[in-house]
Formats: sequence, C-alpha cells, structure tokens
Amino acid sequence: MHIGFIGLGNMGAPMARNLLKAGHRLSVCDLSAAAVAALAETGASACDSPAAVARSEAELIITMLPAAAHVKAVYLGEGGLLDQVRPGLLLIDSSTIDPLSAREVAAAARAHGNPMLDAPVSGGTAGAAAGSLTFMVGGAAEDFERARPILAAMGKNIVHCGDAGNGQVAKVANNLLLGISMIGAAEAMSLGVALGMDARVLAGVINSSSGRCWSSDTYNPFPGVLDDVPAARGYRGGFRSDLMLKDLGLASEAARQVGQPVFLGALAQQLYQVFVAQGHEALDFSAIIHLYNKDNHP
Ligand code: NAD
Repeated sequence: MHIGFIGLGNMGAPMARNLLKAGHRLSVCDLSAAAVAALAETGASACDSPAAVARSEAELIITMLPAAAHVKAVYLGEGGLLDQVRPGLLLIDSSTIDPLSAREVAAAARAHGNPMLDAPVSGGTAGAAAGSLTFMVGGAAEDFERARPILAAMGKNIVHCGDAGNGQVAKVANNLLLGISMIGAAEAMSLGVALGMDARVLAGVINSSSGRCWSSDTYNPFPGVLDDVPAARGYRGGFRSDLMLKDLGLASEAARQVGQPVFLGALAQQLYQVFVAQGHEALDFSAIIHLYNKDNHP
C-alpha cells in the first residue's frame, strides 16, 4: 500500500521505517529537512508539506506529531491535510493528545468525507524501533479493521477502544495511573529504607503482597532492586520525565473538560512539574524517587 507519514521524530521515524520494511511505499514529510532526507535515503518519497502528502498517491495517511496544536495545524490549518485530501482516504493520528481535541479533528475529517482513527501508542522509542508498540485505537469498527494490518507492521498489540477519541482516553487513563503508581512505589520504598529496611527485601515483600504493581515489580524506582531498569543505569533511557508531565497535563485537561476530579493526578502533575523544573526532564520518570532524597538530587 502507498502510505503518507507526517512527523518523523523519535517515534515517527522508526515507525515509518517499519512500514518500509513491511513492503509499503511511503510519502513522508516533517518540518525537519534532515528527518525527511534520512527517510528518503531508505526509499521513501520526500514531500515538502502535509498538503503535498495529501496530493501524493497515498491511500492512507498517518501522523505522529508532538501535541494537539500540531495535530490541529496539520489537519485543520490553512493548506492542511483536510484542504487537499481526497474524500474516503483513511486518516490515522498516532500522536498523544487530549481526547476532546481528537474528537474535534475526527469530526472535521468526517465532515470532509474522511474516516479517521486516533491511535496513540505505548512502548516508547524501543517499541517503535522493534515494531512492538501497543496501539489504542478509537473510531468506527470497519475503519479499525482497515487499519489493523498496517498498524500490525509497527505494533504487536492493537486494541479497538471504541468510538473516536477513545484511544486517547485509554492512553490518558493508563498514564495517569502509571504516574501516580510510580510516585506511590517511590514513596513506599523510600520510607521503608529510611526506617532501616533492605530495599530488595522490602520490594520482595511488596511484590508478593497487596501493594504489588507494575511500578514496583517490573520497573522499581529504587536503585539496586532490579537489573535492567532505568534505576540500574542512572535513570538514563526509558520514558522521559517531561513526557510523563505532558501526559499528566493531558489527564488534568481532559478531567477539566468533563468536570471530573483527578485529586492524585493533579498532585502527581505538580511533583513532575517540580522535578522537570529542577532540570531533570530527560531522566526516566522513575527518577521521581529523588524527590524523597534528603539532598533531593539524582
Ligand atoms: P518528536 O518531537 O521527536 O517528533 C515530532 C515530529 O513532528 C518532529 O520531527 C517535528 O519536526 C514534526 N512536526 C511538528 N510539526 C509538524 C508539522 N506541522 N508538519 C510536519 N512535521 C511536524 O516527538 P516523538 O517523541 O516522536 O513523539 C510523537 C508523539 O508520540 C507525541 O505525541 C508523544 O507524546 C507520543 N509518544 C512518545 C513516546 C516517546 O517515548 N517518545 C512514547 C509514546 C507516545
């Protein structure tokens, strides 16, 4: 299939490469000429704007952009995708944005005669490179079935979450819980160790008791508890703290839009805000445990 791909950043570039590897033809675009040139070297056709991608032979277009403002500009802006794209062509946005913005863009696409799916991902840059992402997909069931074989070239777990926007709802809800549970694991581990307990023994007890959670048993933030997690390598790699802060911000904004309280989410957002403001934005989000150090430093 001929696929348009817009947004060739840390996630988009490896995802696009996996589509090429699976034998698809690509027309690509990014604000960065270097990112476009790198993909063109591996066989993609370079386009100089989203509108040019829309005018290409693409039968389906995927976008992977930083935030809602970029998604709205690319789809709804002057000279954007919806200005140029032919009706009927399936549009898929894999960016992480708030659910209401996703629904707004999907409604505009529908009014133009284009089916649209929101399909945010989890799995990070490693999952994007390995083609093992999880896609959480919102939109009509028949459009999901059309997209499934294409998404399968980039991911392993592809879940239909319901109507437009529900992929983003699943992503926001999961990462809200992840941020809160990571802070909980950091707090409990730090308290136990401050009271004199060995970190590994404490983690072993928690992980076979009712406090067990992914943040404790698979991604424990306390150094020395697990091998092969960011805590074992100075919190490098993994999921950046500023991206967790972005996702908690999306949860707060989505909650505001529907008048739903997110008491712990708001506190988690504040703690990540402080941590990022201290200059730790690039550290893995489990490094938040350093807010519990007496010297408050990684
Ligand atoms: P990134 O900033 O590395 O890449 C975004 C790309 O979009 C950039 O190359 C930028 O030049 C391009 N872009 C922006 N505006 C554009 C426009 N108008 N036209 C064409 N190109 C444009 O971001 P990323 O890390 O690849 O993340 C992309 C999305 O995936 C974000 O929404 C992020 O929250 C989400 N996400 C990221 C990760 C991760 O670990 N990086 C994990 C899961 C989800």
